[in-house]
Amino acid sequence: MTQKFDVVVIGAGPGGYVAAIKAAQLGLKTACIEKYQDKEGKIALGGTCLNVGCIPSKALLDSSWKFHEAKAGFAIHGIEAKGVSIDVPAMVARKSNIVKNLTGGVSTLFKANGVTLLEGHGKLLAGKQVEVTALDGTTQVVQAEHVIIASGSKPVDIPPAPVDQDVIVDSTGALEFQSVPKSLGVIGAGVIGLELGSVWARLGADVTVIEALDKFLPAADEQIAKEALKTLTKQGLKIRLGARVTGSEVKKKQVTVNFTDAEGEQQLTFDKLIVAVGRRPVTTDLLATDSGVDLDERGFIYVNDQCATSVPGVYAIGDVVRGAMLAHKASEEGVMVAERIAGHKAQMNYDLIPSVIYTHPEIAWVGKTEQQLKGEGVAVNVGTFPFAASGRAMAANDTGGMVKVIADATTDRVLGVHVIGPSAAELVQQGAIGMEFGTSAEDLGMMVFSHPTLSEALHEAALAVNGHAIHVVNRKKR
Ligand code: FAD
Ligand code: AMP
Repeated sequence: MTQKFDVVVIGAGPGGYVAAIKAAQLGLKTACIEKYQDKEGKIALGGTCLNVGCIPSKALLDSSWKFHEAKAGFAIHGIEAKGVSIDVPAMVARKSNIVKNLTGGVSTLFKANGVTLLEGHGKLLAGKQVEVTALDGTTQVVQAEHVIIASGSKPVDIPPAPVDQDVIVDSTGALEFQSVPKSLGVIGAGVIGLELGSVWARLGADVTVIEALDKFLPAADEQIAKEALKTLTKQGLKIRLGARVTGSEVKKKQVTVNFTDAEGEQQLTFDKLIVAVGRRPVTTDLLATDSGVDLDERGFIYVNDQCATSVPGVYAIGDVVRGAMLAHKASEEGVMVAERIAGHKAQMNYDLIPSVIYTHPEIAWVGKTEQQLKGEGVAVNVGTFPFAASGRAMAANDTGGMVKVIADATTDRVLGVHVIGPSAAELVQQGAIGMEFGTSAEDLGMMVFSHPTLSEALHEAALAVNGHAIHVVNRKKR
């Protein structure tokens, strides 16, 4: 007999698993289909983020930062650390354990909330039926009242550098190196390229990042991007902008990469090459020809602001639809859709999705950049505060970077918070909370911030917007 569900979710990444749990919590009979197999061949939940994305990359970033600190950051504190060495397989194994814990945790949450896991590949048929093909090839069809597609994304391949997961790897392969490559090339200076490049640079690799665009981090505020380029370069990342990869050749476990830049044809040879040129939506064998679900011109599933597709009762969320490819965006879309299915009038504020790059220092922002606002003809006041003037940052010997608060010149409403510096992701989240409640720079300035904290830098930057900073000289008249 055909199993029937109120909600069937395809994909158990941060979009799908959150949507499934939320739907079940709202009393809907919910199933979630997942096909990802871990190294042991078992179905693992959590999607890209938990298995090969956010979490493993942060585990390696944290480990490599500790190593770097032990080698280069202790002496200033008067701590002698001699003979510091790195056991890469142990570091990678720690990462894998964290992944296992978290993905297992999602399974536990499914059970606790009554979500039925259907293991296998899901395909949307006409009439909100979903075909599930199990790993052994057997198929079943389930009937859904509502379908949520959360099939996510995968790395983009480029013909000039075909991934072999040995010498030329994608982001997944770059989380599994068993030793530190002497020389490492990274194609793409996006979030993933910079994070993974940083991991291996901290462990001692000579890292070159090859980026086609002339501009570094074009989505970030220009002042922050400039500071980021300076800082990362100082850390030893060789960032080649305006450099387009045109070909590569693997020979004797090394790869020679050809690229063109302003000076013409160039060539560099590396022990490993990470291809990090972006991600694309996963829609292969996902939609039957008569499913009725439309794709947009870039291959993403077409949805409106509430994540409804072209078929009533069928929704799509996360990386497979337009917008930022971020776990928290996927999850919040999942919550919104589950709530709408349950009859609530949920909406999502797409203007306040924070972005983070987990380099050191972190780079994070929420809202609009100064150049965006100027382009829109909005008059703004800007306040900045350098961590070099923060007592807490000095205590931690982590004084690089700044906080920048941008407010509307007429209303004083905060329109953007941009940070490069220690704990930037956490500081930006405070800005996001304020902005969600329509904070003005003056409101932030009037709040009491604990001393000494890094958060005081946000306080001071907000005060600086109107020339009221205490611990830096104000540029503006009070
Ligand atoms: P996914 O996480 O891709 O999950 C989709 C799931 O659907 C997968 O498990 C897949 O197996 C399954 N699936 C697909 N098709 C089918 C089918 N037909 N049947 C059954 N199952 C199917 N984002 C952040 O916010 N912060 C970070 O720090 C961050 N770091 C990242 C680091 C790296 C190296 C990478 C690669 C990504 C990172 N991201 C980060 C991005 C983040 O991982 C994604 O935005 C997020 O995982 C998207 O969630 P999703 O649920 O839409 O898709
Ligand atoms: P993101 O989409 O943020 O992950 O960033 C991927 C980056 O890779 C973008 O900045 C692209 O400009 C860059 N990129 C894409 N193709 C190439 C190429 N052939 N050579 C160098 N950089 C590239």
